[in-house]
Amino acid sequence: MSKDFLNFVVEDFLEKIGNNQECFLMNDIIRLLPDSVANQIAAGEVIQRPSSVIKELVENSIDAGAKKIDIIVKDAGRTLLQVIDDGCGMSSTDARLAFERHSTSKIKTAADLFTLRTMGFRGEALASIAAISQVDIRTMRPEDSVGTRLKINGSKVESQEPDVTIPGTNMSIKNLFFNVPARRKFLKKDTIEFTNILHEFERMALVNPGVELSLTHNERLVHRLGRSTLKERIGNLFGRTIEDQLIPVSAMTEPVRISGFIGNPTHARKRGALQYFFVNGRNMRHPYFHRAVMSCYEKLLPPDTQPNYFIDFTVDPETIDVNIHPTKNEIKFENEQIIWQLLVAAVRESLGKFNVGPSIDFEMGHNFMIGSLGEVSRTEKEIAETESVRISVSPQTLSKPALNHSVTSRQSFERPRQNKDWETLYQDNQKEITRSSKFIQIKDRYILTPSMTGLTIIDQHEAHINVLYHKFYNLYKEHSFTSQSLIFPVKVSLSPDQMIMLDSVQDILEEIGYRIENAEQNEKELTALPSVLGNAYGAEVLLDILDGLQTEASQENDVFNVIPGIIAMSMARGSAIRAGQSLTSEEIETLIGSLYSLSSPALSADGKKVITEIDVETIEKLFRV
Ligand code: ADP
Ligand code: MG
Repeated sequence: MSKDFLNFVVEDFLEKIGNNQECFLMNDIIRLLPDSVANQIAAGEVIQRPSSVIKELVENSIDAGAKKIDIIVKDAGRTLLQVIDDGCGMSSTDARLAFERHSTSKIKTAADLFTLRTMGFRGEALASIAAISQVDIRTMRPEDSVGTRLKINGSKVESQEPDVTIPGTNMSIKNLFFNVPARRKFLKKDTIEFTNILHEFERMALVNPGVELSLTHNERLVHRLGRSTLKERIGNLFGRTIEDQLIPVSAMTEPVRISGFIGNPTHARKRGALQYFFVNGRNMRHPYFHRAVMSCYEKLLPPDTQPNYFIDFTVDPETIDVNIHPTKNEIKFENEQIIWQLLVAAVRESLGKFNVGPSIDFEMGHNFMIGSLGEVSRTEKEIAETESVRISVSPQTLSKPALNHSVTSRQSFERPRQNKDWETLYQDNQKEITRSSKFIQIKDRYILTPSMTGLTIIDQHEAHINVLYHKFYNLYKEHSFTSQSLIFPVKVSLSPDQMIMLDSVQDILEEIGYRIENAEQNEKELTALPSVLGNAYGAEVLLDILDGLQTEASQENDVFNVIPGIIAMSMARGSAIRAGQSLTSEEIETLIGSLYSLSSPALSADGKKVITEIDVETIEKLFRV
């Protein structure tokens, strides 16, 4: 349990008994915590935030055999979390018992304790939820003619009466944490809490494609999903583009049945890749198997990208343990080694079958990254034409490589925090470089040049990102982005969480030059783009910005603080020259010149190494026998 939460509950308890000071004058020190406090403490383990309530309630509905589940949320769950199902319902006695601690209908025999299908049942969820909220439940079994309505307020039953309702269960959880004020205050902004709910919904929806599901937030329908296959469900949740690039995976063996989909490497994402493991119908994290999948994509992915995957394992419930983590979302397999091998074999086979396996080799100069090389080259030329190139060398930075002529240009975008005497430094440095040299580009990927102490190696892609990042960052701060209308608007399909993020940052995106119009339900139309972006990258960069903001939001960072950096980085990544792009010597010089005008040319804003050096001693060592 989180220590914070325990502190909150105890603090709150002490505050409540604060007026009753004689408590502390008694000699005996051991006393039982009142039930209400014990329940609140236990609740902290199961219910950490509104999304945990959704998880527990929807799991219960699924276990109750529901084929249709509607979820209604108000104020990101702060005010209302409601789950309506058409499952088996409860008798009036069961409805009452369901809220007692350790009450569960799901374990009847000792053998059931091992059954993962009904996994990790401890009969705690409803008791916990009732301890920290106001519950209003209406439920009826299909065989009964009258149902029951039960109201509980912070573990206290307020009323229970017969009710005319429909078969199934309709559960409303109001004012979560109303009686643990410190915990309620601890809730994050609505956008963050709702994003958590949405992600929980997505996980539930993915493991139950056969169940109809809807999600409504503040009267707005976010999702309505019909019964479907897993593939269609992925498409309905995350968009047609994602669905179209799925590659099936399957391995039907004795210890495990593996099925599901992996993403085509060409659609790997820089941030927010969709990565899901399901075990016997529940979403699980498994860092070790994650690495297994990643190992299959080695050399197939552009740097810093991650593939999507949706992989389902079916195993004998007796061979796994889910109780290694209180929220039951991590799992331990008995046959981990064997499953690892089967998983790797299955993923490799699928990548091979769909021709995205061994035939692609980055080292051979294949380039299957988004956007055409022509576009890339054009962008670089544009930059060469417009960019200011000033040379600044500070003693702390790496020594400047040799330039065979100095590069200047008309306009100044870069505002490096340069030393006042940069020109002197540059000239001094220049004098030391005796032989003027050509830059050499190797494998269309690295730029090699002699330096004062040895050899400098520059990663051209990272170098260009670094240059563009600073340029775009400054443009953002100076409100100097301009917009360019598109003759042919570009359609982008967005997932609901991307839509929500877009809603909250649309004005900022418009300020940098995007014009975004509503199109069909999960689509937007871009009618103008920031002028600095090529046509080919407008949509890609927009999605990358939204993904970046979502990642920050899910890490509970304040989105508005990080916006300039994310915008600049997404634009830079989207429009930088790629590895595998051959450059003219003029382009190389411009790039290197711009790079060295930055205050930290060797390190990019997201911590990547851009430049490395091999000193003469190391080179000498290479020649020793
Ligand atoms: P658990 O799910 O571990 O059994 P819970 O506290 O979540 O514990 O639920 C307690 C019991 O309440 C369940 O075992 C089930 O019998 C009943 N129950 C809960 N939700 C529903 C529902 N939506 N429909 C029918 N029965 C339910
Ligand atoms: Mg449950």
